[in-house]
Amino acid sequence: MSEKKHYGFTTTILHNDRRKAIEQGSLHKPIHTSVAFGYNDARQLASVFQGKEPGFRYGRQGNPTVSALEDKITKMEDGVSSLCFGTGMAAIGALFQALLREGDHIVSSSFLFGNTNSLWQTVAGQGVEVDFVDATDVANVEAVLKENTRLVFVETIANPRTQVADLARIGELCRARGILYVVDNTMTTPYLFRPKAVGAGLVVNSLTKSIAGHGIALGGALTDTGLFDWSAFPNIAANFRKQPPAAQGMAQLRAKALRDFGAALGPEAAHHIAVGAETLALRMERTCANALALAQMLEADERVSAVHYPGLPSHPQHGLSTELFRAAGSLLSFELRADIDPFDYLNRLNLAIPASNLGDTRTLVIPVAHTIFFEMGAERRASMGIAESLIRVSVGIEDADDLLEDFRVALDV
Ligand SMILES: *Cc1c(COP(=O)(O)O)cnc(C)c1O
Repeated sequence: MSEKKHYGFTTTILHNDRRKAIEQGSLHKPIHTSVAFGYNDARQLASVFQGKEPGFRYGRQGNPTVSALEDKITKMEDGVSSLCFGTGMAAIGALFQALLREGDHIVSSSFLFGNTNSLWQTVAGQGVEVDFVDATDVANVEAVLKENTRLVFVETIANPRTQVADLARIGELCRARGILYVVDNTMTTPYLFRPKAVGAGLVVNSLTKSIAGHGIALGGALTDTGLFDWSAFPNIAANFRKQPPAAQGMAQLRAKALRDFGAALGPEAAHHIAVGAETLALRMERTCANALALAQMLEADERVSAVHYPGLPSHPQHGLSTELFRAAGSLLSFELRADIDPFDYLNRLNLAIPASNLGDTRTLVIPVAHTIFFEMGAERRASMGIAESLIRVSVGIEDADDLLEDFRVALDV
């Protein structure tokens, strides 16, 4: 089979596995459930352990099915290598476990997925200083940078209030200062946006969400884009310095975060995610179109007091979103007029399901302040721009007419 250099996004995902040596010409990478990998020559086992030749050692540190998915994600992000984890949070936690030390400083957007916000609070209690800033303006990031700033972390479109980070300018700033730039691409997915284009060194994806799309498997990934100079990163341990500079970050992440902390992705989950990813582009086209139509309908209704969706011209970062992303994503949030009880409203919906996930094929709704952002308290919610009545909608692939009617009819009391 001759290799053409540049296939399109979906073609690449569909045909990636079978371009490798694959058992019985199987079209999908098989699910390898074996934890151990046997070698006929004990010297070969030793040389695999010493990293002198490729091969698998033990399931926690790598598995052929997971490795095929890692390769697929690397292609999707146009990176140089990826590591998969049991969840998206494990991938983010790996940054702390493998790359940060006591006395380091990090900068994070204050507009964040709730559990990432909670993780940074934990980190702050363990000797790493964390500054939260409004990352929609690069000036706020620049203002808090220090000598010991090791990384800057932002989400592309923030979950759930949809603020768009000043992605390109933060990338320029990080490059100029030699700081690792980590972008959580979960909300946009590599189909709508590649953080490599704005200078990200590492990309986070929760595979649980749109990449899998079906809501039947958890997973997360880190992708090294090849843009960050690991030889200048002070926290690489001596034994990983023996690797070529480009491979040092991922080598340390694989050993310290995956091997030592053990948040490995299982082969069955990897298989489910790989199958789901094949239709990512198709689903994103549909969910983004549905989300835009729903956002427009809600915004035009006087019973809705606010709609947050970067695809609307009224969104503060609409220009940025249009410039950077292929479409404005499948997630929106909105607030009802004060006299409409949000719980009663959600209970009147027939199609949209009250549930905590996003990027599912089905439309899911959640009253944010009372669920996923409950634990942090009202003050922190307010600082993140989250109204007590905010409803988050993860828009699915339902027929647009059905979806719009569901949200419209429920407004009639
Ligand atoms: C869901 C989510 C995560 C965490 O992913 P899990 O797979 O649920 O652990 C991280 N970042 C963002 C933006 C998310 O939406």
